[in-house]
Amino acid sequence: MDDRTYTADAEPGDTVTVAGWVHEVRDLGGIAFLILRDTTGKIQVKFEKDEMDDDLVETGLNVHRESVISVTGDVEEEPRAPTGVEVTPASVDVISEADPELPLDPSGKVDAELSTRLDNRTLDLRKDEVKAIFEIRAEVLRAVREQFRELGCTEINTPKIVATGTEGGTELFPITYFGQEAFMNQSPQLFKQLMVGSGLEQVFEIGPIFRAEEHNTPRHLNEATSIDFESAFSDHTEAMDACEAVVKAAYEAVEANCQDALEALDLADEFEAPEGEFPRLTYEEAIERINATGELDEPLVWGDDLPTEGEHALGQDVGEHYFITDWPSEIKPFYIMDKDDEVSTGFDMMHPSMELVSGGQREHRYDHLVEGFEQQGLDPEAFDYYTKMFKYGMPPHAGWGLGGERLIMTMLGLGNIREAVLFPRDRQRLSP
Ligand code: ATP
Ligand code: MN
Repeated sequence: MDDRTYTADAEPGDTVTVAGWVHEVRDLGGIAFLILRDTTGKIQVKFEKDEMDDDLVETGLNVHRESVISVTGDVEEEPRAPTGVEVTPASVDVISEADPELPLDPSGKVDAELSTRLDNRTLDLRKDEVKAIFEIRAEVLRAVREQFRELGCTEINTPKIVATGTEGGTELFPITYFGQEAFMNQSPQLFKQLMVGSGLEQVFEIGPIFRAEEHNTPRHLNEATSIDFESAFSDHTEAMDACEAVVKAAYEAVEANCQDALEALDLADEFEAPEGEFPRLTYEEAIERINATGELDEPLVWGDDLPTEGEHALGQDVGEHYFITDWPSEIKPFYIMDKDDEVSTGFDMMHPSMELVSGGQREHRYDHLVEGFEQQGLDPEAFDYYTKMFKYGMPPHAGWGLGGERLIMTMLGLGNIREAVLFPRDRQRLSP
């Protein structure tokens, strides 16, 4: 619509055509108000029944909520109107009528279950506080890309249909690829590593990962967005520096550019970008501190993975983003470089409430790598496309993967990761 004016741009004295959704109609007898909503906000449309054409009044006041209409009229100052201006309509055009029965109330007066919301995302995102999550998500991805560029990285896109997975079979979704078995990729791990040995050296990717995890938790999806980084001639400490820079850049951009969205989420006052360096605890310190909280029935011993309650207890204790370094080799993937017989270069970056990132320096020595595949029970032959490139000059390198939805979820204090995805995929949900 060439001649359309956004409601936020309608100034007193203008004659405008505004178009959007019928948010509400309030009939006060002699006078009635229609609140029209578009992506920039809302505007009041005034109907004075005695002074206006009957057809016009009828059209304006009988239209169902959430119908799409356009209104042409003069804008005047009106201090009592929600935005300080109102439109006196010369014409009202009903463009797309909505059913009187809505599956979800976009005015937010009636709360809806998450599943109803996810079934009706179009209506759900007409609510300011839901739309705000996705405005912030978009800003986070923009800021992350910019930060990666500042770090000298090139954005890459690697295949999501693959012949083999990194972590073995159970978490892979099989598909049929021209009569042959294939899988949805669970991580760009191997491909991004292949690119640090190419002329690109430093790469990042933002893309989907697919995990056939059976469990149903508020922080797992079966299709998630992974923010991946990999850098040649880097060790795990440099990878941690990059991780910290990217996460901080995301927070800072949201703080600087998303005040309206934060306001809609009621977070404007409390939102703070993390300051200072993220503490770096060794795994050994981490289990000692968890044990000292007394929150676990059984104390943790070397080699245990951190249980969810342990992560929570430690998170409360630390109270900010932090790293856990020096993980036992035995519980980190085989492609992570070991420091010695027991300790690896693997690290996790944690929000006080959950894991956000796993990373480490990678094993770039061909013989060690092939041995690792064997120890993992994987056939090195099946990964020949990957391992053979380690024979032709593979620099030492390090990197990490950050869960995009977990970053949004923890940043905004969302109770469920599904709220950070438009159309989440989980155990029960394949559509829409
Ligand atoms: P967790 O132990 O929390 O299930 P993970 O250690 O299996 O995670 P990684 O393989 O280390 O996950 O993946 C790197 C990051 O990707 C994680 O730290 C997390 O932020 C994100 N991630 C992994 N799996 C999922 C998932 N199923 N849903 C959402 N995000 C995920
Ligand atoms: Mn992990």
